[in-house]
Amino acid sequence: MIHKYDALVLGGGAAGLMCAVEAGKRGRRVAVLERAERLGKKILISGGGRCNFTNIHCSAANFISSNPIAIQEVTRADEFVVKDGEEEFRAPALVVATGGLSIPKMGATGFGYDLARQFGLGIRETRPGLVPLLFGAEDSRHYTELAGVSAEVIAACEGQHFREKMLVTHRGLSGPAILQISSYWRKAESILIDLAPDQEVNAGLLEATAPRNIAALRAALRRFLPNRLADRWLEIHEPKSLTNVSLKEVERKIHNWALVPAGTEGYGKAEVTAGGVDTDELSAKTMESRKVPGLFFIGEVVDVTGHLGGFNFQWAWASGASAGRAL
Ligand SMILES: Cc1cc2nc3c(=O)[nH]c(=O)nc-3n(C[C@H](O)[C@H](O)[C@H](O)COP(=O)(O)OP(=O)(O)OC[C@H]3O[C@@H](n4cnc5c(N)ncnc54)[C@H](O)[C@@H]3O)c2cc1C
Repeated sequence: MIHKYDALVLGGGAAGLMCAVEAGKRGRRVAVLERAERLGKKILISGGGRCNFTNIHCSAANFISSNPIAIQEVTRADEFVVKDGEEEFRAPALVVATGGLSIPKMGATGFGYDLARQFGLGIRETRPGLVPLLFGAEDSRHYTELAGVSAEVIAACEGQHFREKMLVTHRGLSGPAILQISSYWRKAESILIDLAPDQEVNAGLLEATAPRNIAALRAALRRFLPNRLADRWLEIHEPKSLTNVSLKEVERKIHNWALVPAGTEGYGKAEVTAGGVDTDELSAKTMESRKVPGLFFIGEVVDVTGHLGGFNFQWAWASGASAGRAL
């Protein structure tokens, strides 16, 4: 059976729904083709971090196909044709809003990237973003038993830094500071962690009359870090002597704890996918492909990744609205 519309939207997440609502307001007949059994699943689960948007009361009910969709192919002659078994959807415009690769068990697929390649659009390499990092073997031996311990730190790499909470997990590090920096981290690079931002931990020990021993150093570090983390960190980084020079070196290390993560927890735990359809391929005003008129890419499938704090939904809403107003 053939269904004809003004526009087809592949993916009923934040970006796809916003796009359909905006196009619908302008009288366009839009079909949202969604493969999962439920629309907008990520909108519903968000907030575990810092969900910054205030409501989801935009209804796209008029535009939604109620059938689960397993799209087999998309072709284009004079219009776009999307085939799903015996069903065929046709429209002069196609909006790809299939999201990224993060959380495959919620319906994430690489279909949007396949479509971009099929139509000759460039893709920036994808990688998990906003994702916990894994300890290397040695750090794993030292720190995983501290799972659950957290501290406010500054995590830095690639010229970026984030001052937020860090959480030790059974496999590595998480918490907002680590999730934020993970979006910049590249394999084999180190991240630097400032364990006592804005503090001079050893200042007291450097005074002439102060007792100078490991217990005093441990007590100084415990003022800024949870005891278990302070004790373990000092065990691993215990100086051979307590001269002024070595105390200054310990201070430097406290503010520059260098770790080389073995990797990330992967797309299964990533809040977003970094990379994606190259923004150079798209009109910044409408999100339409410069090469293929009528083909749009919006939301997470595009190479735009936000920080924690609502920025990814903001991108999904904004890019969806821009495309919806251009259909
Ligand atoms: C646990 C978690 C918490 C988050 N919290 C926040 C937060 O608090 N604030 C924030 O800004 N961002 C948050 N995010 C990120 C945010 O959810 C995403 O950036 C946003 O949902 C992306 O919207 P999208 O529409 O581009 O993609 P998605 O929401 O992923 O929607 C894509 C849709 O396309 C469908 N689809 C995929 N392949 C096909 C196909 N072949 N055919 C048809 N349909 C297909 C999928 O089933 C899905 O419904 C969070 C993400 C996660 C995983």
